[in-house]
Amino acid sequence: METILLLAHVESDGSLGKPALEALAAAKAIQEAIEGASLTVGLSGAEMGSAARQVGSCGASRWLAVAGPEFAQPRYATDAAAAEALSRASGATLIIAPATSRWSRCLAGVAQRLDGRIDTHVTGASVVDQKLTVTRWYYRQRLEAAIERARRPWFILIDTGCYQPWAGEAAPAALESVAVELPEAAARTTFLEVKAPRADEQTIRPDANLLFVAGAGWTKKQADGKTHVEEAAALILNFIRQTQASLGSSKSLVDLSGEGQDVLPFLTHLNQVGQTGSTPRHPRGLAACCHGEEPHVVGWRFVNERRAINLDANCGWARGKADVLYVADAFEVMAKVNALLAGK
Ligand SMILES: Cc1cc2nc3c(=O)[nH]c(=O)nc-3n(C[C@H](O)[C@H](O)[C@H](O)COP(=O)(O)OP(=O)(O)OC[C@H]3O[C@@H](n4cnc5c(N)ncnc54)[C@H](O)[C@@H]3O)c2cc1C
Repeated sequence: METILLLAHVESDGSLGKPALEALAAAKAIQEAIEGASLTVGLSGAEMGSAARQVGSCGASRWLAVAGPEFAQPRYATDAAAAEALSRASGATLIIAPATSRWSRCLAGVAQRLDGRIDTHVTGASVVDQKLTVTRWYYRQRLEAAIERARRPWFILIDTGCYQPWAGEAAPAALESVAVELPEAAARTTFLEVKAPRADEQTIRPDANLLFVAGAGWTKKQADGKTHVEEAAALILNFIRQTQASLGSSKSLVDLSGEGQDVLPFLTHLNQVGQTGSTPRHPRGLAACCHGEEPHVVGWRFVNERRAINLDANCGWARGKADVLYVADAFEVMAKVNALLAGK
């Protein structure tokens, strides 16, 4: 018999974020597939009244809460203590959590404390003959592994974007408070402030419908023998602002800054998509001035519809890596697209 714990931390606005709701969807699907399995929701954070209400109708049989100002901010010691206390209080055999930076950082340590096991970057779960199997990718989405485990407790970190977030009516939940005795050392790391770019400077938008990826071609000499980096920057930012698309980049383009070349200043390594970059999940993707090399394209694995603009009809995209390739000058195409968008 499995006891499933959905582990979630409350966001700074008092709600549960989308990753937590996705993990809840995964936990519920597993619970419904395993006969006799029960679901407990375990929350940690400063205060959790509204977060608990938000998922109050999810069908959990218990609601556990570790609450207090010391659990508001991410910190290994307090997050691990909260997760450990919730796991022990629930007696869970399966602990499902979203792969947020907070849980990703501390849950391996918590699994160790409970003499359990952990699997991270889980992208799916299925139950066949009452046996749970989870899947994850290795070698940058080239190999998919299916994992079963006899050992309990089994911690499972669900990658974001793999499940439809759970949605249901808000309802009251009977919270049971779980006490945590924090050692003095837990307060050694103190939280000072969040430093983040202004919202309109933020170009990485995981929830956007479209991923626009810029390649090094934007900074290369064009037909007139000159580079047009400023024009490229204006075209890209105009498109991103108008569409609210997420902005990705190839490795070559972000590496240019390290080489002291004329670069697009708004791109950092965080924008890089691919084998040594990120693996975003967007419904649609458009690459421009990017060659479509394998180490780059492997990061597009979970983008559903892929299009590219390249002058070269022999580029990597033409070899089965894009659904549609426009053999065209991206400067011209994007100027036209921007004008059409502005006229809408
Ligand atoms: C171990 C390893 C890991 C790697 N990991 C990654 C990774 O995570 N992510 C990644 O991106 N790369 C990665 N790479 C690098 C990858 O192999 C490529 O070198 C890189 O992706 C190429 O970037 P690019 O396509 O932007 O540039 P280029 O190869 O220089 O291509 C530029 C393209 O722009 C086109 N172009 C130029 N002007 C125009 C125009 N006006 N209109 C339309 N098209 C135009 C050209 O035809 C050309 O195809 C990795 C490589 C290795 C060895």
